[in-house]
Amino acid sequence: MIVRTAMRFEIITIFPGFFSGIFEHGIVRRAQAAGLVGIGVHDLRAFTHDRHRTVDDRPFGGGEGMVLKPEPLGEALQALEILPLHDRRENQILRSAQDDETESGTRVILLSAQGRRFTQQMARDMAKLERVVLICGRYEGVDERINEIYCDMELSIGDYVLSGGELAAAVVVDTVMRLVPGVLGNEASGEFESFGVADAEISSDEAGVPRSQHGAGGLLDYPHYTRPAEFGGLRAPEVLMNGDHQQIRRWRRQQQLRKTRKNRPDLLQGAALTDEDQRLLEAIASEDGE
Ligand code: SAM
Repeated sequence: MIVRTAMRFEIITIFPGFFSGIFEHGIVRRAQAAGLVGIGVHDLRAFTHDRHRTVDDRPFGGGEGMVLKPEPLGEALQALEILPLHDRRENQILRSAQDDETESGTRVILLSAQGRRFTQQMARDMAKLERVVLICGRYEGVDERINEIYCDMELSIGDYVLSGGELAAAVVVDTVMRLVPGVLGNEASGEFESFGVADAEISSDEAGVPRSQHGAGGLLDYPHYTRPAEFGGLRAPEVLMNGDHQQIRRWRRQQQLRKTRKNRPDLLQGAALTDEDQRLLEAIASEDGE
């Protein structure tokens, strides 16, 4: 049986100083202090052998900028005991022939604007892994052979170009680590947020206590309010103060649907919608005069 210990992130970067401070606040700090998450930052220049600690070179074929050389990256990955994909797959086949446990394992991810776009579902899947290795590109990017030989996935955090993979790596660590079991106080709370799972997939309910929120089921979150009840001439919605969990739950669902329809209508396609949700959506559309 695989015993789950801390989840580990390994970040390979030419700017290790970028990460000093960034993981020392809030939930990320607490998760590390509690031993639930470990983060290693590895200086790519430590794997060079020349006087200038060279990590980049000119691109074959000409063109703008520089490219991160493959040898230091290969050595950094070897130091983390990352085998080439081919050997990892063979080991996986041998392992699953020996026992029928699922190997949660390691994934090597190249941060890249050319990658698949990062989603909350990917974060949920990554949070089940033992180790995620994040390679931060710089300049024009990383020699493609590193991707071909070692990487399970190229990952983009959005349709824009950053100057380096470090910010993207920090986004991935922050998003994934809070979904590692035990990191958020209430294990289910990740499920009630924007992009969370549907009610049917939520197992951890407080026995006997009526819930005042739905699982997001792929929708955006509903708006939140706190004291004071009146601010800037606006009162917080009365329904949230009457203690009726069913009414609150219904209002919040309506707001989730309204906000998603307004800001991210594309999400409605893949959302887990009930018949009541469909009726609420129709009511919202007719309120909006459509
Ligand atoms: N030439 C690349 C292109 O056009 O796709 C852009 C390289 S960018 C200036 C340098 C590095 O920033 C990339 O190698 C990658 O690691 C990181 N990066 C840039 N945009 C990113 C994004 N949207 N998501 C993740 N990483 C990104």
